[in-house]
Amino acid sequence: MEIIQTVRHGVPFFFCNHPAWAGAAHGFSSRQGGVSPAPFDSLNLGANRGDTPERVEENFRRFCAAVGSTPETVVKNHQVHGKVVRPITSPEEAVPLSQPGTFPADALVTDVPGICLTVFSADCIPVLLYDPVHRVVGAAHAGWRGTAAGAAYELARVMREDYGCAPADILAAIGPGISPCCFETHADVPEGLRSGLGEAAEPFIRPLPGGEKFRVDLKGANARWLQEAGLSPDHIAVSSLCTACRPDLFWSHRRLGQARGSMAAMIELRGK
Ligand SMILES: [Zn+2]
Repeated sequence: MEIIQTVRHGVPFFFCNHPAWAGAAHGFSSRQGGVSPAPFDSLNLGANRGDTPERVEENFRRFCAAVGSTPETVVKNHQVHGKVVRPITSPEEAVPLSQPGTFPADALVTDVPGICLTVFSADCIPVLLYDPVHRVVGAAHAGWRGTAAGAAYELARVMREDYGCAPADILAAIGPGISPCCFETHADVPEGLRSGLGEAAEPFIRPLPGGEKFRVDLKGANARWLQEAGLSPDHIAVSSLCTACRPDLFWSHRRLGQARGSMAAMIELRGK
């Protein structure tokens, strides 16, 4: 399985086109296809970045139309770099498109069709999960702290324990995020990864000459967490795109700081 780029209604986005994913509308946004001016140009989906509510709402409508998801039932968190998985049971939990989420959590899960789970990122790693057998979807935001804490693992664990999913049935899509080419860190990041993954973290940590800095593969570490949760490696699709390398396609928090928009990843169960 792989993640490809497509364009619908003039909005480019990324998704897994494998037929097994057909029951879940899903996608990762780029910065293209929206209405916002610089520094939010143009598809800013972050309602807390300083962009106007009207433009954020229009950008959401465009992205939902491209993905095939429902703008009236977008559910958002207030992301806090943790591993809390928030179950959604009703469309009543939807947040207006122009307002930020307030519930402190980094992951969402539901078995209710028609609810659009949404997480935000601009270098952090967005992870979407779908069980086509038990009909459950999940979304997680994992920066380095969430990756170290195992946010993706927690999401898969909740799907297994609370929703009856068999890990072997779960499909995963890991979206565009900062990649080892650009993610240079101090020792805190490798230490965090080791504290979560143990020796399994080593393939995702590369010391740089001098020994004080490292390059870290957060997408690889999230894929590893999903395998620890029982997912099959061939069910895990990983985007090769680096948000810091491609300023034409993405905002990068590392490159731009606070003067930027936000991308989003969405997933929604289709049908009834
Ligand atoms: Zn890069």
